Amino acid sequence: MTTLRSVCVFCGSRPGARPAYAQAARETGTMLATEGWRLVYGAGDVGLMGDTARAAMAAGGKTMGVIPTHLMPHEKGKRDLTQLVITEDMHERKKVMFMNCDAIVVLPGGGGTLDEFFEVVTWAMIGLHRKPIFLLNTENYWDPLLALCRHVVAEDFASASLLAQFRPVAEVEDLREALRGALA
Ligand code: AMP
Repeated sequence: MTTLRSVCVFCGSRPGARPAYAQAARETGTMLATEGWRLVYGAGDVGLMGDTARAAMAAGGKTMGVIPTHLMPHEKGKRDLTQLVITEDMHERKKVMFMNCDAIVVLPGGGGTLDEFFEVVTWAMIGLHRKPIFLLNTENYWDPLLALCRHVVAEDFASASLLAQFRPVAEVEDLREALRGALA
C-alpha cells in the first residue's frame, strides 16, 4: 500500500494582474493530480485558489479544502472537493492545512499568502517542522520578497538560515522535479 502524499498550496484569492499567474496555478493543480499528490488548500473557488483546485479536480486529483465559517461566502468555499473542512477561525484553518500536508508550495498571492509563507518559514527556523517549502516565482513575482529576505539577513535581523528554509523555483516543471525529490 502506498501512502498518499499531500501538498499544501498557499496562493492568492485574487487572479493577479497577469494571465501567467492563473496559468501557473492551473499547471500546478494539474501537476499535483497527475503525480498522484493530494492538493490541500484554503477551499476557496476564487482567484488562483480556485484555478488550482479546479485544475486538480479536472485531472482526477484528490483535494482537501480548509476554510473558516465566516469566509465560506466571501471565498466561495468549494463543496465538491474530496474533503471540505470548515473551521472556526483562521488559526485553526492554517493548523489543519499544515498538519495534513507533507510539503508546502507558495504561488503568487497577497497578504494572506505572505502570512502563510512567513508562518511556515519561521516555524521551520525555530525547529518546529522540517516540511519542505517551495516558492513558485512565476514571472519573478516573488523577487521583491527574496530581496527583502536577503536584506533582513544582511542587516542581521535573521541568520542566513532564513534563506535555506525555502527553495524558489521558476516554473511548474521545476516544482514537479523539486517535489518528486522531496516526497520520494
Ligand atoms: P491573499 O493572498 O491575501 O489573496 O489570501 C490568500 C488566502 O489567505 C485567502 O484564503 C485568505 O483568506 C487567507 N488569509 C488572508 N489573510 C490571512 C491571515 N492574516 N492569516 C491567514 N490567512 C489569511
